[in-house]
Amino acid sequence: MDEKLKPISEKVYAGERLSFEDGLAILQSDDVYTLGELANHVRHKIHGKTTYYNVNRHLNYTNICALSCKFCAFYRKKGQDGSYEYSIEQATKEAVEAAEAGATEIHIVGGLHPYLPFEYYTDMLTSIRKAAPQLHIKAFTAVEIVHFARISKRPKDLAAVLNDLKNAGLGSLPGGGAEIFDDRVHDKAFKGKIRSDMWFKVHQTAHELGLMSNATMLYGHIESLEDRVQHFIQLRDAQDEAIEKGFGGRFQTIIPLPFIPDKSELEHLPGPSGLDNLKMLAASRLMLDNFPHIKSFWIMQTLPLSEIALNFGVDDMDGTVVWYDITKVGGSDTHQEVTTADLRKSIIDAGYRPVERDTLYRPIIRNGKDWQLAPTTEPALQP
Ligand code: SF4
Repeated sequence: MDEKLKPISEKVYAGERLSFEDGLAILQSDDVYTLGELANHVRHKIHGKTTYYNVNRHLNYTNICALSCKFCAFYRKKGQDGSYEYSIEQATKEAVEAAEAGATEIHIVGGLHPYLPFEYYTDMLTSIRKAAPQLHIKAFTAVEIVHFARISKRPKDLAAVLNDLKNAGLGSLPGGGAEIFDDRVHDKAFKGKIRSDMWFKVHQTAHELGLMSNATMLYGHIESLEDRVQHFIQLRDAQDEAIEKGFGGRFQTIIPLPFIPDKSELEHLPGPSGLDNLKMLAASRLMLDNFPHIKSFWIMQTLPLSEIALNFGVDDMDGTVVWYDITKVGGSDTHQEVTTADLRKSIIDAGYRPVERDTLYRPIIRNGKDWQLAPTTEPALQP
């Protein structure tokens, strides 16, 4: 075992919280076997062999964006070749198709459209809620929420904006837009996008309003290992606060996202390796002791690596995504789908027990396209 991991191992087996220095030692270590073993120990303590997946659809309603983040290959300017925006009817149609195909969740995010009014978003939610009432709507990153606050002329009243969205049908927030919290990295790679203080403000406000949310970290570009560890610590502190203050909402899961350089302004960078990805997933499990779930987003991590990652702290394989326009590993076809049978097979092959969940991690029972919550619907919310 890497000597530097010995004191960390003792802390992990004693159930003690890891420090910033521990996090750094984890990310600097090449001893991936020990890291996997430690993360696996924590994963088993919380979830045993259970591995979650869900049946969902992604809807990226527009790629027109007022910003031009360097790492982003998704955005287009209005009128530019390949730019698009959905009408409310198109968005609703896709949601209904998803619900009819058995999806439990629709995951909606898009660019910061410079001209669409706030009502477009509330109307979209209302229309989907009405047409597909069983579908959970997980929508809008913190970056979009701040954009909505600006366009609805309530830049300082995030609670009012979130309340309007909640009343229109918003069920929870995804974790996007976090990138790397460090301001130096932010200003170099994501200038114009909200900084970490606003990202946390949106999620804290959502938690106060009883909405669950997720968190992400986009790593493997221009950030340092210290920046990654600091990102973990800030998330852990925010979750501590939500728990202490008894908010109805919390962070449910972290989704570490490897940077994919293709077609972005940072195309010259190599992006993270597979081993780096495994280490980040293990580090997430070890550092975020108050986060119930660690997700391997197979679209970016690939399915084979996600299978291996189940032994590196991961307990969630995400879903049967159909369209995901934002990024893809290799190629330009954005139709990406695995069946539930594929996902279940991957999980079983890796030696784990597949459990289909809804967005709030409640187990569900499925009969073809029909589904309902399992009678014992205790979500694994506490590590
Ligand atoms: S990352 Fe989001 S905010 Fe930045 S350019 Fe892309 S779509 Fe726009």
